[in-house]
Amino acid sequence: TQAPVNVTVTGAAGQIGYALLFRIASGQLLGPDTPVKLRLLEIPQAVKAAEGTAMELDDGAFPLLSGIDIFDDPKQAFSGTNIALLVGARPRTKGMERGDLLEANGGIFKPQGEAINAGAADDIRVLVVGNPANTNALIAKSHAPDVPADRFTAMTRLDHNRALAQLSKKLDVPVSDIKRLAIWGNHSATQYPMITHGTVGGKNLAEAVNDQTWVEETFIPTVAKRGAAIIEARGLSSAASAASAAIDHVYTWVNGTDEGDWTSAAVISDGSYGVPEGLISSFPVTAKDGKYEIVQGLEIDDFSRTRIDATVGELAEERDAVQKLGLI
Ligand code: NDP
Repeated sequence: TQAPVNVTVTGAAGQIGYALLFRIASGQLLGPDTPVKLRLLEIPQAVKAAEGTAMELDDGAFPLLSGIDIFDDPKQAFSGTNIALLVGARPRTKGMERGDLLEANGGIFKPQGEAINAGAADDIRVLVVGNPANTNALIAKSHAPDVPADRFTAMTRLDHNRALAQLSKKLDVPVSDIKRLAIWGNHSATQYPMITHGTVGGKNLAEAVNDQTWVEETFIPTVAKRGAAIIEARGLSSAASAASAAIDHVYTWVNGTDEGDWTSAAVISDGSYGVPEGLISSFPVTAKDGKYEIVQGLEIDDFSRTRIDATVGELAEERDAVQKLGLI
């Protein structure tokens, strides 16, 4: 049998962690043949709660779960790790300015980047879920100069899945019929879900929808504001769907996209589509041989151009702000 893959999860005692860890332990992150060893990172005051989650994981008697270790020190938590899911972050609280938010997260993601640089396995892959995810990924990456930059990614797969769900309902087709959807830019309200190059049952998606008013006034805002709608309905932020998307992101990264299809992930920009090099921006991506690659050569219409420029502009502002704070 295969040696276990080390998976580090930060914020392990949180809501998303609670949903995520059971999916990982059951084999859904890496497939049914790959045993996993969990390394949980928490802040000291949440270690006890993480221990409780670990007790429940033990009680799941998962055949693929070969061990759980809990840490409050990033150096230890990332030592030898192959996959890092950075979920724990400092949420924006009432009255908090963006600069304060970025600074608080710098205090989390800088030491984590350093710890990944110092001790993670050579094949380390990092997914940042904790918000502001794209910029947190940029901070971590900046402090891991020995790790290839393309190993740092941020999650827009939940936005992608939310967009698939909305389109599936609108067109009354199964989600699996919809291909080549793409989320661009920041995991924030400025994100742009693009259907222009999508297909449904082999036909063009935008033509099948044939309702630009719905796209602009219903579809895009519904996808972008879905998190707030869940909080309103559930009284708590989305957690199981975020965990599910994190599973999808890593599974696709490792196992690849289907021929002819693509997905969405925030990856380091190489300057494609005018997105400044070095930003961690969402793009349409394929995955092959364990690498995410930006889909090249798509024609960008005027509407899409305006939307992409706006969301990428926000990412550039966040980068400038963390640069000013000395965090990158
Ligand atoms: P959650 O598990 O609900 O959320 C964790 C992070 O994921 C938040 O930053 C949240 O951002 C983000 N997120 C991204 N996408 C989504 C989405 N679609 N829906 C909801 N959240 C999303 O938070 P909890 O407060 O329950 O748990 C956080 C845990 O992290 C705590 O146990 C805390 O102790 C821990 N923590 C650990 C750190 C570490 O290990 N060093 C550092 C900081 C915290 P948003 O707030 O914008 O929704």
